[in-house]
Amino acid sequence: VRETGRPVAADIVVVGSGPVGSAAATRLALLRPEASVLVLEVGPWLPGTAGVNVKNVPDLEQRAAMQVRSQGPIQQSYGVSVLQDRTRRAAREGSDVLARPGTFLLSALGGAPGGMPAAALSSNVGGMGVHWTCACPWPYGSERTDLLSADEWSSSLQEARSLLRVTQNAFPATATGERVLAGLREEYPDAVKIGRGPTTMPLAVSPGEHREWTGPAKIWEQLPSDAKVRLRAETLVTRLIVEGDDVRGVEVRDVPTGETWRIDARLVFVAADSFRTPQLLWASGIRPQALGRYLNDHTQVMSLVDVDFDEPQERASGDDDPLAGVYWLPFSDEVHPFHGQIMHFELSPVPLTGEVRNANTQTVGLGYFVPKDLRPEDRIVFSESRRDFYGMPAMTVEYGLTEVDEERIELAKTYMRRSAAAIGRLREPDPFLLLQPGSSLHYQGTVRMGATDDGTSVTDGTCRVWGLSNLYLGGNGVIPTPTAGNPTLTSVALALRAAEAAAKSLS
Ligand code: FAD
Repeated sequence: VRETGRPVAADIVVVGSGPVGSAAATRLALLRPEASVLVLEVGPWLPGTAGVNVKNVPDLEQRAAMQVRSQGPIQQSYGVSVLQDRTRRAAREGSDVLARPGTFLLSALGGAPGGMPAAALSSNVGGMGVHWTCACPWPYGSERTDLLSADEWSSSLQEARSLLRVTQNAFPATATGERVLAGLREEYPDAVKIGRGPTTMPLAVSPGEHREWTGPAKIWEQLPSDAKVRLRAETLVTRLIVEGDDVRGVEVRDVPTGETWRIDARLVFVAADSFRTPQLLWASGIRPQALGRYLNDHTQVMSLVDVDFDEPQERASGDDDPLAGVYWLPFSDEVHPFHGQIMHFELSPVPLTGEVRNANTQTVGLGYFVPKDLRPEDRIVFSESRRDFYGMPAMTVEYGLTEVDEERIELAKTYMRRSAAAIGRLREPDPFLLLQPGSSLHYQGTVRMGATDDGTSVTDGTCRVWGLSNLYLGGNGVIPTPTAGNPTLTSVALALRAAEAAAKSLS
């Protein structure tokens, strides 16, 4: 239900309406149906049905309007063809980075992105969950924090998969897909043996004639019609009100009018992305040593691979969904220490230009994510005096790749060569495109979980902030491990678990 008034109290306040805030709010409402839940979102409602993934919107003008409205300070289209060229050039020359449609750069917010020039955010009802590509690989080995037992991981991930409607059968089999999977399985037999062999990508999508990509709207569908959940858009949470060990409520500002007031709450769950969650804590005087530190993002290396056939092949492109398949080369410490994702480039989140087409050749995009060497000095610094576009403490990023990172990137390229050779031909002579830090949009670690309050974590294993009885956090920022795979499934799994702990604490 859309909240348009000026509420002054709710049992539970959730900050942020992306997939994680939506998952937490939904789970809390289901577990505590008697409690009122108020979701506060600084971004606006988008045109059309709220929380729907833009990929489901066939009208391209409406889709573009949704993207622009999500871009906070940049209320104009970036122009995709310019983006394609400039993304390539920027990656080579280290300059001129542009954001993807639906997002805006941290620099546009008034921050200094430092060594993470492509750091980007979304501000809208549904958050980045309206714009995401929906890849939902599950974590493995060192990607998983041991704060959860194997059974807890397995049940939480299963619940997250079901909430996000993750399937590995989104696309019908094609000759290219079969070639890709057979070639890769032959190349990595040991990965197959441990259950981490090449396979179809788990995607958050309802298959069918017209695929329906998951956005927060799908998550909200779980709510019964009489659920006491309300969402107020264009409402910035400026401060959490702390008294002793408790958060008593939040201070908010109505973005259009600038009016401010206080909302009392018994429980607060913050899922305001990996930059703005620590920003809000900092603005509230909650400043544990690890806040904003251990910032990490997947270093991303892209390439194009031509897959040749003896016969002419049917083109993959459909009218409203130009994707023919997405394949997954899972991370495993033992065999393949990277996340590989293979897709027809028309729908790649990083558009690539220069594809050559002939009837016997299909081209696929091969992208690798490289886990970061985690360090406390990779961090966000919050300003005491400077304010960002929304009036919150301005953020400066200190971030860099270490020697270990550089070595991992080179190693990733050798794996990419192996993978490409197993399915086709790399575009030589300059096959690899190393994207600017921040390009993956998977920012992690800034409010990380930990086993003890020893200065290296912000929350306990249930995502409750150390030292506060009723403040829980969610989002990619809580992930304490170096991961390779896209993190949203993991973050939703952790948020569902946190919501359970939070619901218990309410009684
Ligand atoms: P967000 O979705 O970022 O939502 C946070 C919300 O909090 C925002 O709407 C913001 O406006 C609001 N907010 C912030 N501060 C405040 C405040 N002070 N007061 C009120 N509201 C506030 N991930 C994957 O796992 N797989 C993919 O394939 C994938 N593809 C992607 C493709 C694109 C183009 C993009 C943009 C992202 C992609 N991602 C992907 C990343 C994924 O979308 C994020 O991991 C996910 O949305 C994080 O969810 P969240 O709810 O924590 O944060």
